[in-house]
Amino acid sequence: MKQKMPQTDDEWKKDLSPEQYRVLRQKGTEPAFTGAYWNNKKKGMYVCAGCGHDLFSSDAKFDSGTGWPSFTDPAVKENVETRSDNSLFMQRTEVVCKHCGGHLGHVFDDGPMPGKKRYCINSCSLDFKEGKEKNKK
Ligand code: FE
Repeated sequence: MKQKMPQTDDEWKKDLSPEQYRVLRQKGTEPAFTGAYWNNKKKGMYVCAGCGHDLFSSDAKFDSGTGWPSFTDPAVKENVETRSDNSLFMQRTEVVCKHCGGHLGHVFDDGPMPGKKRYCINSCSLDFKEGKEKNKK
């Protein structure tokens, strides 16, 4: 986890890559099939690239064919918040890191059974910690 969370836009800009800043802080979307993790099949924990909190486990990752890392559920529900997003003439549900407010992606209702959720997350909003399990440092 980060010792000191950036507070201002300028601090975030210094802290993140330009692509991460555009996605996390300006609600951008990385192009499909370009990110580091859409095809990552290793076991571990995906943490927030902004603040380091655990977000999604490889256990919930599935191949959605979309070119973005896709998950059926957050690993730690308390770390993830959803908000309605009516931008771009669409009704979508935005997925946000609860701790730093970083934009992660969107959640859709066309995922696999039984929950049918598809958390469609930008790779660059995430850092992958190989081998890390939930609630273990
Ligand atoms: Fe965060």
